[in-house]
Amino acid sequence: MPPSSTASKKGNNEAGRHQSALLYIADLIMDLTKIREQFPILERKIKGKDLIYLDNTATSQTPMRVVEAIERMYTTTKANVHRGVSSISQEATDLQEATRRRVAQWINASSEQEIIFTRGTTESINLVASSFGDFLENGDEIILTVMEHHANIVPWQLLGRRKRIILRVVPVNGRGELDMNAYRSLFNERTKLVSVCHVSNVLGTVNPIKEMIATAHANGVPVLIDGAQAVPHMKVDVRELDADFYAFSAHKMYGPTGIGVLYGKKKWLEMMPPYQGGGEMIANVSFEHTTYAELPFKFEAGTPDFVGIAALDKALDFIEETGYDNIEAHEHKLLTYTTERMMQIPGMRIFGTAADKSAVISFLIGKGHHYDIGMLLDTQGIEVRTGHHCAQPLMHALGIEGTVRASFAVYNTIEEADKFIAALERVAAMLE
Ligand code: PMP
Repeated sequence: MPPSSTASKKGNNEAGRHQSALLYIADLIMDLTKIREQFPILERKIKGKDLIYLDNTATSQTPMRVVEAIERMYTTTKANVHRGVSSISQEATDLQEATRRRVAQWINASSEQEIIFTRGTTESINLVASSFGDFLENGDEIILTVMEHHANIVPWQLLGRRKRIILRVVPVNGRGELDMNAYRSLFNERTKLVSVCHVSNVLGTVNPIKEMIATAHANGVPVLIDGAQAVPHMKVDVRELDADFYAFSAHKMYGPTGIGVLYGKKKWLEMMPPYQGGGEMIANVSFEHTTYAELPFKFEAGTPDFVGIAALDKALDFIEETGYDNIEAHEHKLLTYTTERMMQIPGMRIFGTAADKSAVISFLIGKGHHYDIGMLLDTQGIEVRTGHHCAQPLMHALGIEGTVRASFAVYNTIEEADKFIAALERVAAMLE
């Protein structure tokens, strides 16, 4: 059975409209205007209509303080980091390393040596696949889940060019939740790693990763968590989870593009060989023999995006000021309200109805093609994502080519949800 839920009732959204009046008040109490005015892009018009940005899973928008930090860095503090005694270089280095310490505290790592800056979740996972991959042998197995993003599938397949690695895949139930019995049954003496997303970018399912990590550890297997869709929305504590690796991207959490984080337990990072070679990651180089730098620099070859890293600190300020509790509560409100209203639209099919779900709604309407639905929404100023969402194996499991996906961030409003529903009602009527 595919993890979808199909609309059963015809049209009458009257009750929903009453409910929305109460939720508008909740939006007022949260003072969303103060949050929204930090994001100038939200003032934009698309095809003459107010922009309603519902593609936050792909990337979130960026508050002015992040943009200003980038500008400030370029106009006052641009000198390469970790390059000796010059004042500006030292200032830039201090900013970068302050962000590293902050990120370590943010996710409760034991030390900033466990925080490696990368280009994004994709590079973080590739790093582990390449370096940890050295420890794997022909015939070893890695457990993934059917809901993984390509970023958590293809790097393990590339490892297969060096040796024969077998991927074991955990399926999902009708709600889009992982089949935990199947998960437990996949372990054997050849299992060398579990790599699983914290939150699905398609189904919104929040996976029981603490339990999954405990199961893996009971089998002596380390775990990598793809946290790209979790860190923007919820407090993550890597030590409480006991994750061995945890990867995420700044651009999905109100930060700049081109910055990612890989958290890794020191014991693994110390054992693992470097990922790339170059400047910054060495202690001593000769043509005969090279020694590597201490953690975390061993894994940071070349000039990092120190401008973006400094600006990431301001994105963390934004989240801290807003508060994860408020973010979660507000996004949950948007999710439940929008889902209930959508389910009253004839022909609506929602993919992913997990009990623990993030504010991501993947859907199709009747026989409408996801691309056409997305185009029609765009004409009404509503930016959603259409397609396979870099999760083709999941689409195959669902027996579909793609979906339309609406995903919320803290700056979205109930008023926007209402406009989205109204637009969907018009689209559904056109498709009838
Ligand atoms: N994993 C998940 C679950 C994602 O949603 C994404 C981005 N869509 C990625 C990995 C890849 O992130 P990035 O493109 O920032 O490297």
